[in-house]
Amino acid sequence: MKAAVVSEFKGPLVIKDIPVPAVKARDVLVKIHACGVCHTDLHACHGDWPVKPKMPLVPGHEGVGEVVAVGSEIHHLTIGDRVGVPWLYSACGHCDYCLDGQETLCLDQHNAGYSVDGGYAEYCLAHGDYAIKIPDGLNYVDAAPLFCAGVTTYKALKVTGVKPGQWVAIVGAGGLGHLAIQYAVAMGMNVIAIDTGAEKLALARELGATHTIDFMQESPSAAVQRLVGGVHGVVCTAVSKPAFEEAYKSIRRGGTCVLVGLPPDEMPIPIFDTVLNGVKIIGSIVGTRKDLQECLQFAAEGKVKAITQVKPLEDINAIFAEMEKGEINGRIVMEFA
Ligand code: NAD
Ligand code: ZN
Ligand code: ZN
Repeated sequence: MKAAVVSEFKGPLVIKDIPVPAVKARDVLVKIHACGVCHTDLHACHGDWPVKPKMPLVPGHEGVGEVVAVGSEIHHLTIGDRVGVPWLYSACGHCDYCLDGQETLCLDQHNAGYSVDGGYAEYCLAHGDYAIKIPDGLNYVDAAPLFCAGVTTYKALKVTGVKPGQWVAIVGAGGLGHLAIQYAVAMGMNVIAIDTGAEKLALARELGATHTIDFMQESPSAAVQRLVGGVHGVVCTAVSKPAFEEAYKSIRRGGTCVLVGLPPDEMPIPIFDTVLNGVKIIGSIVGTRKDLQECLQFAAEGKVKAITQVKPLEDINAIFAEMEKGEINGRIVMEFA
């Protein structure tokens, strides 16, 4: 099968012919129709984080397609089912976190396109218990970005605790952020979007942001404080340390700052302000299978739609270069013939 493979950190991805993986008892084999390109894939290929991915690696955790083989112990999926293979490739299923609805915190988890091969290939294995069905009426290209960008931002918005009619700021209106804006609007929140460039900010307004702020033109936190007196919650998806500092300074007293983007930096937290202002700082990692089902349902009902540009797998190195420069509007999805 054709796959994009990275063999060393910061090395290019190479299109190779590799064997179709063998299906074990609890696996399903998915013929990939489309796979979104997440900034996490770029971090993986660069070895940016303290926990390193397997090498060589087939990246990708927004792979979607049809089930073409089912392991002997999987009985709820059948050949022809349309599924996606998310970041949470598998978890142990029996630890405190798994039992408590926090399976994304399981210490014994695997991650697609990181600890196991992912969706940048014609075929991808999935754990039968963690492959999630795509609702009818949602096509593969529209579904792919929801398997990470969608579920991650939907969950992060829940974590903000922002209520309908209150203000949320979305810092970084890229692959994750453009979906965050839409989920926030669908959840009844008022949105301020922060990024740079006329095109991205125009898209953010089209998607429902009431205000947009260009971080290259003005201080986002000063603008947020001026516009609405601080937001009740903020979701920071930007891959930039200054963005996190601005996100923190944008919240009003009692508000919540949810960290989602993963630049390999530290964020200095002022203790005095945090205490006096009674603010919360919370990390949020993807979402559970239940979050994913809910997030897909929003799209199936037409309340959310990923803005996509469709490209072939062969373009992956050029896509990464564009992503590094912050030039992508919405999400790039690679479609397989
Ligand atoms: P992306 O490249 O599509 O979007 C990032 C956006 O941030 C770009 O639009 C860029 O212009 C913008 N940006 C850069 N500097 C900024 C600043 N100072 N202020 C505001 N915006 C700024 O990336 P993506 O795919 O959306 O991923 C974003 C980050 O989220 C990555 O670090 C990725 O690894 C991480 N991520 C985390 C989770 C999680 O579960 N926590 C899940 C998926 C991705
Ligand atoms: Zn577990
Ligand atoms: Zn991702």
